[in-house]
This record gives sequence, structure tokens and C-alpha cells, in this order.
Amino acid sequence: MSPSADLASSLSSLPPPGARRLRLRVVPPAERHLRDGHPWLYDTSISEQDGDGAPGDFAVVFDRKNRFLSIGLYDPASPIRVRMLLSGKPAPIDGAWFRARLQAAAVLRAPLSAPERPRTDGYRLVNGESDGFPGLVVDRYASTLVVKLYTPAWIPHLAVLLPALLDVQPAERIVLRLNRSMRREPASLHGLTDGQILFGSPLAGPVVFSENGLRFEADPLFGQKTGFFLDQRDNRSRVEELSRGREVLNVFSYTGGFSVYAARGGARSVTSVDLSVPAIAGVERNFALNMDVPRVRSCPHHPVVGDAFEVLSGMAQTGRRFGLVVLDPPMFAQSKSQVEPALEAYRRLCRTGLAVLESGGSLVQASCSARVPAEAFFAAVQETALDTGRPLRDIQCTAHAMDHPARFLESSYLKCLFATA
Ligand code: SAH
Repeated sequence: MSPSADLASSLSSLPPPGARRLRLRVVPPAERHLRDGHPWLYDTSISEQDGDGAPGDFAVVFDRKNRFLSIGLYDPASPIRVRMLLSGKPAPIDGAWFRARLQAAAVLRAPLSAPERPRTDGYRLVNGESDGFPGLVVDRYASTLVVKLYTPAWIPHLAVLLPALLDVQPAERIVLRLNRSMRREPASLHGLTDGQILFGSPLAGPVVFSENGLRFEADPLFGQKTGFFLDQRDNRSRVEELSRGREVLNVFSYTGGFSVYAARGGARSVTSVDLSVPAIAGVERNFALNMDVPRVRSCPHHPVVGDAFEVLSGMAQTGRRFGLVVLDPPMFAQSKSQVEPALEAYRRLCRTGLAVLESGGSLVQASCSARVPAEAFFAAVQETALDTGRPLRDIQCTAHAMDHPARFLESSYLKCLFATA
């Protein structure tokens, strides 16, 4: 077993932030967006820049009258060239500044772990831009913090940020995760690796946390996102409420968050479908973790590894029907040009799901594609249902749980429709 990681030595090889601040001017529409608090400045919106910058350099934007507009972190390799830390009034960005922002983020999540009514020790502490940390996410799973970076611009600031994080949220360990585009550029990582323990004891496998009285494992090292889909917490509770006496089908189940809630809600049976063998193995372990809950113990669970569309079509052909169907696929649209094909895929999925839903059953269909506007997604599902002769009733449209604040348009990605069909 490798020794515990000491934060100071994990960070000792990282470069300090550049001493020089870049000065930028931007085109008028970008000036307006920044003034309105939008956190991104695109490369194409920069009209003047006083030199080259390295990842993580502070970049200061001045307006047409040469007044301070915003300051942010520079990323020379990204089309989002500067991610803004603050706009309006300048302030020193140091440990105290990070601590104050982390404290504000912690206060927002405090109701989730209030000692008199603890709901969960798995939550998103920092939701990137919407908490003032553009391109950085911090999730907590029990005593493990997972810091996920979406830009190397944070690397020179970790030595100041992480001690502040541990002050605000004491933890046993910090795991570092890097998004895919960063992993493709090892030269920009200064020796940091995906899954590295930056602080604390090594991690042999998944960690267990509890949510609304259920226990789940999250795999911060190899799991999707940071190990669990925390954003669906409130939607899981809704599924629990709808499951009583029903046969429940959870498609794109991942490690079975919806499945275990459905079982506790009194489902007659739960079937979980996912293409990934490790995900389905995770569903089975999550059921096993909750065997002390009588309804989970007595609920038959059927794990299915396979392609969602094929499995659903096969079930439809053999006349298999369910009283509640959850469809929560991966992101379908990465770019603007993929929005139409994504909407078509949501329509096809809706048709395929309705084909196995008994009359009067509940349909739960979600989209996590930020590019697909909520109205377009909800309209596509409703129109499809109508076209197939299954008009939707009792429609409820929901979004992320409260620990995923979305303070600008591009950050609200999750939409979920609940309806009777
Ligand atoms: N509903 C899950 C999160 C779903 S993430 C939860 O609440 O935890 C999307 C999942 O879809 C992933 O686990 C991925 O393995 C799975 N997936 C992707 N393509 C698939 C396909 N064609 N058929 C079945 N599952 C698929």
C-alpha cells in the first residue's frame, strides 16, 4: 500500500501562477456579456492582448473606457480562453478569497447534511462557474473529496485553493480527476495524473456514502463523472414515490441509483439495463449494500447488460411490460450541429420506452445534453407520445438537485420529465 499523500509534497512540483497579468480588450458584445456576469470569454471575442499567456495566468479585461471589467484564468489551448473569477470591482484573488467562496458554497449545501436531519453525505460542494470556480468541480462522498478539473488553468492555483478547501471542508482525502481533454495533453499537467490522491490515505476502491437513508458506492477513481450521478438525487426520490406495486425498468441505469430507490419505494420488481458490465456489477453491489431495508431485500432485481435500444425492442416484441420506465441516457449532443440528431434520438427512445410501458404507467425521461434546450426536449417527448397514441398526462418537468446551481444558460444541462402515459 502506498503511503498517505501529503498535500504540500503533492503540490510542490506545480508551477506558481505567472507573475504578470495579461491585459485584454474584447469586442462590444463580449463586454456586455461579461458585465452581465457571464463567466466565459471566447478566443474569438478578444480584440487586443498584450502578449502570450500560460495556463492559469490571470487575465484582466478592460472596457472601452479603460476601466476594469473582469479578471479570470487564462487557457491558451481552449476556445474558452478566459474563465472569469470576478467581474465589476477588482479584488485580490488569494487564499482568503477562495476560502470565502468555498464557505458560501458550503452554506448553500448545509441543509443536505444538517445534523438534525442529515439527508446525504454525498453532494456537490462546488459546481464550477455557478459557484464562482469556473472549470472546477468538487464533490464529496463521505470523507472523500473529489476535485475535478476541466482546464489546466487551475493547476498553478491548487497550492492556494486546496488548503482553503480543507479548511472549509475537512476530509480524509482529496482525489484529483481530470477531464478527457486534459488527459490528452500530459505536458500541461506538470506530473499530475487522473485519479491521483493529492491528500490523505490511498483509496483501494469505491467509497460508500449515504443518501436519504440508502447506501451507495461511488468510485471516484474510475467511475463516470466523479463516481455517481449526484444531480439526479431529487428525481430518484420522485421515482421512489411512483414505484409502489409496479414493475420498474431502469434503462441506462449506471450503478442503479434509480433502481435502489424504486425497490425501497415498493416496486414488485426492478430491471436495470446498461451497456457497461462494471456499471451493472455496481447496481448489484448497491442492492447488496441495502439488504437491511426490507423492501430492497424482498424486491427481485434483474440486471441486464446490453444496448438499451436492442433490449427495449426485444422486450417490446415479447410483450414484456412495465408500470414505470426510467430513460436516462448519456449526453447525446456535444455541439450545436448535434442538437437535431439528439432530439431525434430522444424521440426514438421515447417511442421505444413507451412500447414497453403499460397503459397508465409512468414515464420518466431525462436529458443531460446542455446543448439541447429544455423546451425543445420536453416538446419532443410530448409530441412523440402524442404521435404514438399515448398522450402524456400529469406532466412534471424537473432539473438538477439544489447542490447543482445553474447560474447561466450553458450550465443548466439536466432536464427530466415525469408523466403518466
Ligand atoms: N441513470 C444513471 C446515469 C446514466 S449515465 C444514474 O442515475 O446513475 C448513462 C449510462 O448509459 C452509462 O452508465 C452508460 O454506460 C450507459 N450507456 C451508454 N450507452 C448505452 C447504450 N447504448 N445502451 C445502454 N446503456 C448505455
